[in-house]
Amino acid sequence: MAFIQKNTEIIENKEIAKGFFSLWLNAPDMAAQAAPGQFAHIRCGDKSLRRPISICGADTESGRLRLVYEIRGEGTKWLSEQAPGYNLDVIAPLGKGFDFRGQSGALFIGGGIGSPPMLCAAKAFPGKAFAALGFRNKDAIILKQDFEEAGIPLDITTDDGSYGYHGLVTHPAEERLKSGGIGLVCVCGPAPMLRGVIELAKRYNTACQVSLEQRMGCGVGACRVCAVKVRDKQKDIYMHVCLNGPVFDINKFDVQI
Ligand SMILES: Cc1cc2nc3c(=O)[nH]c(=O)nc-3n(C[C@H](O)[C@H](O)[C@H](O)COP(=O)(O)OP(=O)(O)OC[C@H]3O[C@@H](n4cnc5c(N)ncnc54)[C@H](O)[C@@H]3O)c2cc1C
Repeated sequence: MAFIQKNTEIIENKEIAKGFFSLWLNAPDMAAQAAPGQFAHIRCGDKSLRRPISICGADTESGRLRLVYEIRGEGTKWLSEQAPGYNLDVIAPLGKGFDFRGQSGALFIGGGIGSPPMLCAAKAFPGKAFAALGFRNKDAIILKQDFEEAGIPLDITTDDGSYGYHGLVTHPAEERLKSGGIGLVCVCGPAPMLRGVIELAKRYNTACQVSLEQRMGCGVGACRVCAVKVRDKQKDIYMHVCLNGPVFDINKFDVQI
């Protein structure tokens, strides 16, 4: 499906944890086309490069698109300062999302700011989705209530043990895989976590799709900035996160993370 570029009105831009914001945009045509795992590319003030942010929710009834982001640098800081009513220049939906075809149960694993696309994806798999989310500490937990309201069984871990299980998110994920019924693992988060989850999925002979973050330019496959190395039989090839991803099926593509 073709992407759309337009000015979209900010409906809400609210801090949900320290440094983390939930942004709702009035974007009926984008919400209607968005699929779990796709992203929006946002012009942040006078910055020449847009900033890619995953789609966290698409409400087709109200025509709203939800993005959840963390302040990392100048672009996301600028975004956090924009009030309802401001018209944001957005390109969406972009990229290739998750593929649930043929799956009967899925586990969605998010690490920190990798959690927002997992909410969107888990909601698209009603009654068959489980989630495991890992955060630095209690204050960095986001979207817990959203997962609970959607009726998605959720395990939370924190690095410092200030909430939930003390340790890595791969621990409850493994418990869930042991209990059976999971044919697919979807994951988004920092590279060490992705590597841990891929290893786990291989050990439990479970399909695995990873959503990758990569520094990005145009977002539509023209500038070739967001290359990732993929081992294809005997040789290495390069694919692009914006066009071939951000979601990659690791059973089809041996992505070098
Ligand atoms: C497909 C995709 C989905 C993403 N989804 C989310 C999300 O849902 N929520 C969220 O908070 N963040 C997400 N990110 C990361 C987000 O794009 C960066 O945090 C953001 O671009 C940082 O911009 P900045 O100006 O605040 O930081 P700066 O560090 O000042 O940015 C400078 C430049 O680096 C680029 N950049 C910096 N970090 C990243 C990164 N990790 N990935 C890609 N480009 C980067 C920026 O686009 C910009 O061009 C996603 C990234 C990708 C590729």
